[in-house]
Amino acid sequence: MKYTIKGMQIEELEKLIVTNGFSKFRASQIYNWLYKNCEDKIELMENLSTDLKVFLKDNSILSTLELSKKVEFENTTKFLFKTKNNQFIETVSMIDDDKHTICLSSQVGCSVDCDFCATGKMGFIKNLSAGEILDQLIYIKRNISQPITNIVFMGMGEPFLNYKNVIKSADIMNDALGLNFGYNRITISTAGIVPKINQFIEDQKKYNLAISLNASNDKIRNEIMPINKKWPISELLKISKKFNKSKKNKITFEYVLIDSVNDSESDAIQLCELLKNSHCKLNIIPFNYIGNQYKRPSEDKINNFIDIVHKNHQGFRILVRWSKGIDINAGCGQLSTKEI
Ligand code: SAH
Ligand code: SF4
Repeated sequence: MKYTIKGMQIEELEKLIVTNGFSKFRASQIYNWLYKNCEDKIELMENLSTDLKVFLKDNSILSTLELSKKVEFENTTKFLFKTKNNQFIETVSMIDDDKHTICLSSQVGCSVDCDFCATGKMGFIKNLSAGEILDQLIYIKRNISQPITNIVFMGMGEPFLNYKNVIKSADIMNDALGLNFGYNRITISTAGIVPKINQFIEDQKKYNLAISLNASNDKIRNEIMPINKKWPISELLKISKKFNKSKKNKITFEYVLIDSVNDSESDAIQLCELLKNSHCKLNIIPFNYIGNQYKRPSEDKINNFIDIVHKNHQGFRILVRWSKGIDINAGCGQLSTKEI
């Protein structure tokens, strides 16, 4: 059996190499090569001893993903990766002037089953390992020269249903001796798995957090996000208060605007009422088509909704996010590996 060392933290590397008769300090050299230098060829890891290189060559796996396909449109690139057990995931790179955002997948498919999301329609297939999450980022870092400025867990899957591996990978991204991305450059988006949000607060993780709200009342949210029956809007507001108390960067609520579902004037007013004085950010995302019954509202309807929110909001901030890459099905919620 080979050890998958991509995704290992320093302590795990130390244990592995000490058990196999090498000096402990070698672990930090390997860690450095894997994450700081993003090197995946053992022969290029100059400062390792020859016998350690031979050991790693015979017994370890450094790269967990293989590129299967790449589609580009303007400044957005969608990557289709194959895992070692022949499953597929998608990752998106979006460049906007000097901002370069990478949208990472955390699972193959998703069990949350939101009715408007292509990933949800795949069902749950598997959790990605920390190595598979890191390799999406490392591949893009090695292959696109523009420096990465932001990392968002908004690709395929529900990050908080793969909490351990997501946090482990984020910690390696954040580690100054690892990939060295500041914690405010990393955002985790969740459909609202309340116990895990609570754990995230208790674990004192500093990454940005976004919750996909997508409705201004439980009746509509129950219809489009079945998970709302377990953790309704009141629970989300309660936990977000706790989060905001503990963090400088306040929580973001995402609201996917869907035609004739959640885009009426009364929805806009109810939404302002809900978020009043919450000090959160509200991110409005016009729906991206996934081939089912849902549609994006007309531009007039979108603008009208935004106007009402702008006029009525109190104590929270608003941002409108037009997804990049919808021409190549790389927009929010369009990731699925049925076709690319
Ligand atoms: N599972 C996590 C993260 C992945 S989804 C979550 O749900 O938050 C990332 C974002 O895409 C979420 O805010 C989700 O509501 C949004 N989304 C899903 N389907 C969409 C679609 N068809 N159009 C626009 N946004 C969508
Ligand atoms: Fe899963 Fe997020 Fe899609 Fe819902 S929106 S099905 S939680 S990936």
